[in-house]
Amino acid sequence: MNRTVYVNGEYLPEEAAKISVFDRGFLMADAVYEVTSVLDGRLIDFAGHVARLERSLGELDMANPVTAEELLAIHRELVTRNALTDGLIYLQVSRGSSGDRDFIFPDPARVPSTIVLFTQSKPGLCDNPQAATGLKVISIPDIRWGRRDIKTVQLLYPSMGKMMAQKAGCDDAWLVADGFVTEGTSNNAYIVRNGTIVTRDLSHDILHGITRSAVLRFAREAQMTVEERPFTIAEARGADEAFITSASAFVLPVVDIDGAAIGPGVPGPVARRLREIYLEESRKTAI
Ligand code: PMP
Repeated sequence: MNRTVYVNGEYLPEEAAKISVFDRGFLMADAVYEVTSVLDGRLIDFAGHVARLERSLGELDMANPVTAEELLAIHRELVTRNALTDGLIYLQVSRGSSGDRDFIFPDPARVPSTIVLFTQSKPGLCDNPQAATGLKVISIPDIRWGRRDIKTVQLLYPSMGKMMAQKAGCDDAWLVADGFVTEGTSNNAYIVRNGTIVTRDLSHDILHGITRSAVLRFAREAQMTVEERPFTIAEARGADEAFITSASAFVLPVVDIDGAAIGPGVPGPVARRLREIYLEESRKTAI
């Protein structure tokens, strides 16, 4: 590819962009990230992603290298320079490089954070055929660390979960801790029972999805009932519908869990409606 990427204040051809081998993001996964989707060249839910980035940085005592205004300008510049119509913008901030490997955090006054952004072009991002077919998921133990609300780049186990799903002929994995579903490998998880949308409540156990927050708001505005509480795989298998949300997938139906069809085994009306509302409403507020 021939992208222009952003690294620490510079726009560079992707092959010219460089990060130190001592960068703590590389050595220790000491970094946080955000993924913002772009539809028709405009940013979806941008304010939410900036707010969560600031929260992740704060929870880890990591210095924020840019203001919200600068971040918006960088995102827009990357959209322009890469002629991005539909796709994603990946942003990562790490604790930088002290020029050596050390467990102790470097002094932020001496070692600035590293910031990197790049685009991923995804033509037809909102016409995903999986919206019509639905996803098949497997359940696997959630063995991640206890601060899943911080969006760190520690994505080895989620990657392994996707590989386990692929090996089982499925699309994704739902993670289960103490008998209850936490979330998907890279998305929040929901079931629908008798018209009620059920999704795990916010805590340190799950990522506070930006899409989750918007979808639950739209659902309540449309007079749908929402229950924020944990649910089991057994309850999910007996549900009428299931679905996931994320910034890159928006809302996608889940039609099979561990080989058992959910409801009639086809995408349900609640997931379909929420996908429509989410895409329509978030396009209106895209910037
Ligand atoms: N949970 C996890 C573990 C994720 O990685 C993601 C995607 N970043 C989400 C939930 C969904 O969050 P968002 O809607 O902000 O993309």
